[in-house]
Amino acid sequence: MIPRWSVAAAVFAFVAMQYIFWVVMPEHRRHEPPPFGLRLYLALSWSALAALYMLMIGYVSEDTKRRAMQARVWIVVCLVLPGGIGAVLYFLLRPPLISSCPSCGTHVQSDYHFCPQCAFQITASCGQCFHSVRPSDLYCVHCGHDRATDNTPARLMAFRE
Ligand SMILES: [Zn+2]
Ligand SMILES: [Zn+2]
Repeated sequence: MIPRWSVAAAVFAFVAMQYIFWVVMPEHRRHEPPPFGLRLYLALSWSALAALYMLMIGYVSEDTKRRAMQARVWIVVCLVLPGGIGAVLYFLLRPPLISSCPSCGTHVQSDYHFCPQCAFQITASCGQCFHSVRPSDLYCVHCGHDRATDNTPARLMAFRE
C-alpha cells in the first residue's frame, strides 16, 4: 500500500524537522526560548505531521495506479495545496476501484456491467431496467421485474436496445 520511497521520505522529513527545531531555530531566536517541554512537544508534533504527509503522498501515488489515474498530477496537487487539502480532494474525487475482466483482463470499474473490450458480462443485470442485480435474485430490486421471464439472457437484451 505504501511504497518504500515514501517511508524513506517520511523518515527524512521527521529528521529534517527535528534539525530545524533544535539546530536552525535556536540560532535565529531573538527572545527567550519557550520552556523545554513545549519545544519538545512542538518539535515532535510538527515532525510527525511532516512524516505523515510523506506517507500520505506515497499512499496516493500507489492508489492512483490501482485506479488507473494520473499519479503525477495527484502528487503535485497534494504537494501544492497546503495542509492536506489535496489529499482530501483526492479521496473525494477518486473513481471506484479498478479490477480486471475475467475474460480478457482489461481494467474495468466496479460499476461496469460489460467489459468495454470483449463485452463479457461482468455483473448480472435486470432484463427490464438493466440495473445490476445479484445472480441469485429472482426479482429485480430496482423495478420488481421477474427475472425468470428473461428468456433471452440479460446481456443480449442489453445489446438489442
Ligand atoms: Zn473483457
Ligand atoms: Zn429491473
